[in-house]
Amino acid sequence: DVRISRISSSIRVIPDFPKPGIMFQDITTMLLDPVAFKDTIDLFVERYREKNISVVAGVEARGFIFGPPIALALGAKFVPIRKPNKLPGEVISEEYSLEYGTDIMEMHVGAVQKGERVLVIDDLIATGGTLVAAIKLLERVGADVVECACVIELADLKGRDRLGDKPLFVLVSST
Ligand code: 5GP
Repeated sequence: DVRISRISSSIRVIPDFPKPGIMFQDITTMLLDPVAFKDTIDLFVERYREKNISVVAGVEARGFIFGPPIALALGAKFVPIRKPNKLPGEVISEEYSLEYGTDIMEMHVGAVQKGERVLVIDDLIATGGTLVAAIKLLERVGADVVECACVIELADLKGRDRLGDKPLFVLVSST
């Protein structure tokens, strides 16, 4: 698919950000290319159009860029999954491990109903910890997480394995 190569080349890699040794995949350059950005959204929408998705859950922060256009195209709700103390209503929280220490993700109570079919969106999967936390939040309220989708997978980190039997769809696999 020529769209994938255009998307892949629109992503900039910045060495040593946010700290030495990290090769940061910067998707903001893709957002400057309206064709690559639209192709990204279209590829996700094509995959999920017939899947009866009623919720697109986007993970802060870059899941908030890709999630809403996909939700609108699918006629689904958009639900933000956020860092702690950002959501104003009643929340449920899930702690997850980082390279050093832990972090927390939160979701509004009442945003997702039992039995709803959810697509989880983020820009990138590294170790998979973030997506695992998002899946746990959604499953705690009885939702059916159909699939997780990311623009980029850092395949060497094997984050996919941490998702267990939960399917992961990615556009670009980076090694
Ligand atoms: P994980 O929990 O899978 O280890 O890390 C994934 C999370 O960290 C995602 O929310 C993603 O946005 C962010 N992240 C980690 N590394 C990168 C990177 O190189 N580029 C971007 N854009 N996000 C990253």
